[in-house]
Amino acid sequence: MNIDSIKNGVVIDHITAGRAMELYRLLGLDGVGVPVAIITNALSSKKGKKDIIKIDADIPVDLDVIGFVDPGATVNMIKDGAVVEKKKMKLPQILKNVLKCKNPRCITTTEQELPHVFRLTDADHKTYRCIYCETKAK
Ligand SMILES: [Zn+2]
Repeated sequence: MNIDSIKNGVVIDHITAGRAMELYRLLGLDGVGVPVAIITNALSSKKGKKDIIKIDADIPVDLDVIGFVDPGATVNMIKDGAVVEKKKMKLPQILKNVLKCKNPRCITTTEQELPHVFRLTDADHKTYRCIYCETKAK
């Protein structure tokens, strides 16, 4: 795979240096079976150093996960070798099935079919709380 020229795929750019692996894991990219390149500590004019993830396949990525891990990232959609869409990330208001509630008394512990939903309650401190029991996620 030529990491500089993706024909159809997704490039996640301006990831804070050191966060690419966490993002890779949370996006489930280890299980998708398509070429993925991770570039760490690339030089960036904006941030000094940054990480980049290049996905050489037109697969759906969960933008909420990217916004949660790194609200400063940008997502470029590549079609026929050109950027067709550039998306700026922000902290999502709702996170579904990304975090798991750690409260043993939470209803999600007994009701396995319930989705794990967290709501952003404090954007400055990046605080998410379980919508069922209000337990803090981090
Ligand atoms: Zn809970």
